[in-house]
Amino acid sequence: MADNNYKLDTKLIHAGVVPDPTTGAIMTPIYQTSTYVQAAPGDHKGYEYARTQNPTRTVLQNALAAIENGTHGLSFGSGMAATDAVMKLLQPGDEVIVSNDLYGGTYRIMTKVFANYGIRFQFIDMHDAQNINNFITANTKMIWIETPTNPLLNVIDIEACAKIAKANNCLLICDNTFASPYLQTPLDLGADIVLHSATKYLGGHSDVVHGALIVKDAALDEKLRFIQNSCGAVPGPHDCWLVLRGIKTLHVRMQRHCENGEAIAKYLRNHPKVGKVLWVGFEDHPNHAIAKKQMRGYGGMISFTLKDDSMDAALSVLKKTQLFALAESLGGVESLIGHPASMTHGSIPREERIKNGLVDSLIRLSVGIEDISDLIKDLEQAIG
Ligand SMILES: *Cc1c(COP(=O)(O)O)cnc(C)c1O
Repeated sequence: MADNNYKLDTKLIHAGVVPDPTTGAIMTPIYQTSTYVQAAPGDHKGYEYARTQNPTRTVLQNALAAIENGTHGLSFGSGMAATDAVMKLLQPGDEVIVSNDLYGGTYRIMTKVFANYGIRFQFIDMHDAQNINNFITANTKMIWIETPTNPLLNVIDIEACAKIAKANNCLLICDNTFASPYLQTPLDLGADIVLHSATKYLGGHSDVVHGALIVKDAALDEKLRFIQNSCGAVPGPHDCWLVLRGIKTLHVRMQRHCENGEAIAKYLRNHPKVGKVLWVGFEDHPNHAIAKKQMRGYGGMISFTLKDDSMDAALSVLKKTQLFALAESLGGVESLIGHPASMTHGSIPREERIKNGLVDSLIRLSVGIEDISDLIKDLEQAIG
């Protein structure tokens, strides 16, 4: 697609989008239809039934492919539906090596759903990507990473993982939800599949649940498309339209998420009641060198602990913030605050969670794009 000749900021606005052929509407219409009239059996305009294709979805999928530097994009009803489709590439007996700090829902679908179908998952530390080599067997078919991770903001070397995947005939899947293509494009670094919960930064306005896969290989695209059409986890056209509208401003939003994130990370680091601040932009972040190599900015996701490392201390902060809304999810224009130990990661046994650094007072921020002085004032009065 000629779209790939443009820079990202241009592609975000124009990629995939063509004036509507029937009216010239500059914005892609919402094709709210389930089927398409054929002139004679098999004589149609490329659209037969809306589980298989929808023109609003087609435009979004082409845009997604372009902004992640892939060749094919697929849209799903949610991020988890996209994950589900990737898992269905596997067969009983296959093994997957997974990074151990992971979105809770991904951990759940692997251990509670696909483990029942004879697929084996190994959750391992990937601070040093070479550790993956210790777990590869003849049955390993996939390496699954998320970087930066949720909520501990670990960074994994995508290029090193891709080399290991290639050498062992595995697929590398990279969940790029936290970074978005504005900060990092894993396909350029050798990943085979990029996965998104477009519910987060791509949609960007906390008004839609949506998922996406982007690949750069026609045969892999065909397999995933077959699974999607067979299993049916497709998005509605209105949701596709919302995501398409969201990505047009991804670059301006992400730029501000990065600026506000940096200011808040530095503010927290100097706060006498704050313990550790986890933000990938700090030079003493354990894998900052890798972040610097593979990312174009450091984003607005921050986690921090309190010196008083108790649930109560954390809950008291959560109760007092006014601008930072207490909620799950992330990546919207508004700032959110969350407590992983009692919310998103509550199902992980306490010992296990603390061993991995997810302590009782850990608070996660999704820094929005409001005025920075208002955000800092809010944290100031909440932390005390
Ligand atoms: C939210 C999220 C998902 C799941 O996506 P849904 O759209 O909620 O189904 C997967 N991975 C990451 C990193 C997420 O944050």
